[in-house]
Amino acid sequence: MAILRFKALETVNNRKPISLDFPKERVTSYFGMYVFDKKKMNEFLSPEVYKALIRTIETNQKLDPSLAESVALAMKNWSISLGATHYTHWFQPLTGATAEKHDAFFDIDGDLVLESFKGSALVQQEPDASSFPNGGIRNTFEARGYTAWDPTSPAFIMDTQGGKTLCIPTVFVSYTGEALDNKTPLLKALNLIDEAATHVVQYFDKDVKRVIATLGPEQEYFLVDSALYNSRPDLVMSNRTVFGHAPARGQQLEDHYFASIPPRVQAFMMDFEMEAWKLGIPIRTRHNEVAPAQFECAPTFTEVNLAVDQNSLLMDIMERVAEKHDLRVLLHEKPFAGINGSGKHNNWSMGTDNGKNLLSPGKKPKENLQFLTFFINTIKAVHEYADLLRASIASAGNDHRLGANEAPPAIISVFIGSQLTELLESLEKNSDVIEKGDNLYLKLGIDKLPEILLDNTDRNRTSPFAFTGNKFEFRAVGSSANISAPMVVLNTIVAQQLKYFKSEVDSELDKGTKKEVAIINILRRYIKESKTILFEGNGYSQEWVEEATKRGLSNITTTPPALKSYLSKKARSLFVDNGIFNERELEARTEIYFDDYVKKVQIESRVIGDLALNHIIPTALNYQNRLIINAKGLKDLNLGEDSYKVSLDTIKEISERLTIIKTKVEEMVEARKVANNLDHSDARAEAYCEKVKPFFDTIRYHVDKLELLVDDEDWPLPKYREILFLR
Ligand code: ADP
Ligand code: MG
Repeated sequence: MAILRFKALETVNNRKPISLDFPKERVTSYFGMYVFDKKKMNEFLSPEVYKALIRTIETNQKLDPSLAESVALAMKNWSISLGATHYTHWFQPLTGATAEKHDAFFDIDGDLVLESFKGSALVQQEPDASSFPNGGIRNTFEARGYTAWDPTSPAFIMDTQGGKTLCIPTVFVSYTGEALDNKTPLLKALNLIDEAATHVVQYFDKDVKRVIATLGPEQEYFLVDSALYNSRPDLVMSNRTVFGHAPARGQQLEDHYFASIPPRVQAFMMDFEMEAWKLGIPIRTRHNEVAPAQFECAPTFTEVNLAVDQNSLLMDIMERVAEKHDLRVLLHEKPFAGINGSGKHNNWSMGTDNGKNLLSPGKKPKENLQFLTFFINTIKAVHEYADLLRASIASAGNDHRLGANEAPPAIISVFIGSQLTELLESLEKNSDVIEKGDNLYLKLGIDKLPEILLDNTDRNRTSPFAFTGNKFEFRAVGSSANISAPMVVLNTIVAQQLKYFKSEVDSELDKGTKKEVAIINILRRYIKESKTILFEGNGYSQEWVEEATKRGLSNITTTPPALKSYLSKKARSLFVDNGIFNERELEARTEIYFDDYVKKVQIESRVIGDLALNHIIPTALNYQNRLIINAKGLKDLNLGEDSYKVSLDTIKEISERLTIIKTKVEEMVEARKVANNLDHSDARAEAYCEKVKPFFDTIRYHVDKLELLVDDEDWPLPKYREILFLR
């Protein structure tokens, strides 16, 4: 009998929501208590050092070494006062996860044991990090990489069952200065967009000194009971179920979305949200998602670098807190076949240092022209670099969502809603604009852009990149991703586009064209040049696939070809010329992505093989043996052929399916061997994608059929209907 499965089911039946000690205080009194924010800096630093540090942060400068000692001392005193015993540099290597290596504060000085944290330890560390992926940048003999403090993201205290640790957000670079992490290029891209956008805003508002890109990432996830999780080796090994027949009831009743949240889940949400609040992560919304057992949370948006750090931290917190509730969080993009997968909608905009959202239409004509400038330039950037955006979200997990008949398609397009579509159409159709005083705006229909845009309800859920009133929402990002990569690409391409726009406007101004006229005429040309990327219809439909092909848009459904765009001539010059990556970094990074893809698919393939051979085949054979005894017995009774027909047919079907499963597993193993022997990572990735992965569906198809055939009492793996309906 399937002992593990039934034990797990019994455990689940007896679960109760765990009772939590909610803080009595109001949220505002503990929000950010574990963050070394301005308030604590002010409290623990001298006024001079405080001012200098704030200036460093606000102007994105490197920390003046002479401040390091005082800042380190203040951080140490603050964190020790809250019970911290260790500190760590906290960074985001290219594994996608976060990394930390803890050091104790205490130090021994002669006979004295004291607590120390030197400025040098704050500013820079050398973790022996030779086993982080580096794409060939660091040979092991020069294994040194170092981490360096990023003062723009505040230090925080991680409070776990294992104690409290001061965490210092850092970049991670090789000894020779090449980026080995997700943060380094992100900081560069954010500086780039700040500079490029500031120059353009100044056409409209001379007072703006800085532009800050903003991000609010919505996080989707699944929750499953940990007992059931532990009895599914595929979930444990690869974070997704490689087998499992669809339950009789999936998401077709649409009764889960926004329905009341199950009590155990709500207790978990409350718990992790409070942990997040203490760390200053402004989680605001929570709800059920479309698929059963799927949920979502979203923070209030903030500056991109901080939002990325907070999202990484949040994923960590969620996983940790879930265990306390005997739950497991599945951040995988597609843990279950046949129901929706999970994404991470990246709500993105740009704001000025005087508090104006550049993607928010204003009340005055001039503000509307400013809005249109940033709006249209973003569309143009997406049009120019759609393949790069696609590359930035490519992963083995996300391949199951993109291009698999569900949200969103692999074709990058932009949804802007009917009102703005009309506006762009009329702008485009007007003949060349000449100066007519204020009539200029009137004639173009941008004298009063409706402010109701925000309430614009015709939201298109099928679009990978949608304008939603005052921000763009990049929806194709995968739920488990470190969102630096898509943010590096998005901010870099928009910055590049804004730089280009400025050069075009300036050359018009040099010719004596009036500013507004120059801007409008250039924008109108951009509308023409990039309108193939605009799409308002159903992104899941076959018609769109055909239409997109006609328009010349790419439809790259898998990771290996998507990643190639990182190495195109266009991408190289974009990244290298803008100082985001040098050639070596770009190649190393892409190699790491290819390798990561290979590893993920390889693990899945092994899990499929093991489960098929060790779980499914023996189970089916056992059941078949019982049927054989049954059939023989019935035959002996001489009741006629009909009496043992069911047994006989089932015996035959089991044999047929088992033969296919066994053969396909063997062929898959052979295909893996061939792939493993290829020299280059891109070729290996391609082989895994095209030669190994196709076996998955075939093997699964027959295993899932067997699930319906074999006695339920025997089936070893918890079934979808048991995993997906959490109470
Ligand atoms: P929905 O599910 O309707 O898309 P949510 O409330 O779940 O809406 O998420 C919207 C997200 O967009 C939130 O994280 C919100 O803070 C964020 N957001 C709002 N304005 C901006 C902005 N100007 N820049 C970046 N993100 C923003
Ligand atoms: Mg959204």
